[in-house]
Amino acid sequence: MRCSRRLIVLAGLGAWFSARCALAASPLAEAETLYADWLDATYALATVRAGPADVRDGRDAGAWSRERDRDAALLATRLDALKAVRLGAADRAALKAMRQGLAEAPTTPAAAAPGESEARCRGAADARLEREPLSQALYACFEHYGNHLEFEGGTIARTTALELLQELDTSARRAALLRAFAPLWNALAPADANGPYRRLIRLAAADQAAHGNSPIAAAARTVGAPERDVEGWLVAVLARWGRAIDPTPVEPWDYWHRHTAATRVLDPEIGAGRILELTKRYYLDLGADLDALGVEHDLAIRPGKAPLAYADFVRIGREVDGRWRPAIARVSANVEKGGLFVLNEIVHEDGHAVHMAAVRTRPAYFDLGDDLFIEAFADVTSWSVAEPAWQRRYLGHAVDESGALEALYTGVVLDAAWGLFELRMLRAPDSDPNAVWTDITSRYLHVVPHPELPWWALRVQLVDLPGYMINYGLGAVLTADLRDRTRRAIGSFDAGNPRWYAWTSEHLLRFGKSRPTPTLLNAFLGRPVSTRALIAELNRIRPPRQGLSASRRRALP
Ligand SMILES: [Zn+2]
Repeated sequence: MRCSRRLIVLAGLGAWFSARCALAASPLAEAETLYADWLDATYALATVRAGPADVRDGRDAGAWSRERDRDAALLATRLDALKAVRLGAADRAALKAMRQGLAEAPTTPAAAAPGESEARCRGAADARLEREPLSQALYACFEHYGNHLEFEGGTIARTTALELLQELDTSARRAALLRAFAPLWNALAPADANGPYRRLIRLAAADQAAHGNSPIAAAARTVGAPERDVEGWLVAVLARWGRAIDPTPVEPWDYWHRHTAATRVLDPEIGAGRILELTKRYYLDLGADLDALGVEHDLAIRPGKAPLAYADFVRIGREVDGRWRPAIARVSANVEKGGLFVLNEIVHEDGHAVHMAAVRTRPAYFDLGDDLFIEAFADVTSWSVAEPAWQRRYLGHAVDESGALEALYTGVVLDAAWGLFELRMLRAPDSDPNAVWTDITSRYLHVVPHPELPWWALRVQLVDLPGYMINYGLGAVLTADLRDRTRRAIGSFDAGNPRWYAWTSEHLLRFGKSRPTPTLLNAFLGRPVSTRALIAELNRIRPPRQGLSASRRRALP
């Protein structure tokens, strides 16, 4: 029969083979095919809506929308009918996964029409808005204001501003640049206890309490830690950073510049035009040919485009006419300027793309796993660009290791700070966000207190998905663990390693949602996730020689 014939052809793809046989023999087969069609239509529609092309596989948004709605309606009927069917344990689990998938349809940023972002953003002032429309309104503010920051007579995107905060030569220019976020901040976080962000965080906290869908609890589950330990993990990482860096207080606009001094010389060599070439070369050396995998990149700036970098499916991977048809992924970002920060971001998004292409599982489980794992995995490769070995191979020379790592962890610990910020805001949603942020950044990052500035409001995720930053903040702990485990198994991969993609796919990526992420991680690491690897990485940063004595340094929080 077909299954045994394919066994010969597909030796080595055991999980895929058994998934396929299970599907062919399953009473779920018809519903599952429909589920795969619905996912494909959903992602095709999202791709068209994101632009720039308004047609995919010969169909426009209207046609894909009709297809998706038809599939969804049929699927809902089929899934309902299966309630009456006696199913084995595996099929019951797959059915549950499909029900959940249909209920939580993937959402992807769509490009906004001219004037749409501005009108939506203005709507955030309406105190009656519910959580979801308020989130969408504030997301629109990030497009309208965040992607159009007025600075030195021109208009720049938020990502460019974050890169320039590392590069600009004088503190006055950097201060002016951070203050260019003021229109965005006024829309999000005016000095008003009932401002849009404060309403959003209260609604999000209430929603999470009512539905038990706290991202903090989910993140804790992924790493296998009790939820009450998460705060301690973040604080341990931040405190270690605080001891590793120069403790002289630094203004918020100078924070990035101070800690990226070593890598600044590399920025001019990584022009916007080289970003794609560099990420492709690196992944090719890792055994993941982005072109052969069909990864699509949409990196140009254009009006109405999603204001954040993200990766998503164009279509899922599935069996078609007896052959495995791989997933296709796309990366969207706003690259108008190069630099190491921007490169790191694109290598991260390509990490998602290769993850998507590696999944081999039945449609019911066609996803990537828990959010924290997804984000942590994407950083496994993006952290490498900070390593001297990477820089030597791809740029021809490297900067001092300690300085390069300090530059990398400048952003990593800011993510941990944002994770802690959201954890505390969601726990006590009536808190003043500026005060919470000031406390964290002055205590651990040695940033001069500026409680009058909502300079925490730099990340789209804070309004798009309140609580999501934990996946980067706590995700860094897992990233360090995954990097360490991988290095022990196949050797260094900072300057490429042809075994990396095959080995990582086999041990980590191919399962999709067919295995619970905590189980997968435990098996991969051979132990629970721990902060040890990340703390060891931070220990590679040499403390500043000048200034404080060792005893004073130890006494810092
Ligand atoms: Zn990501």
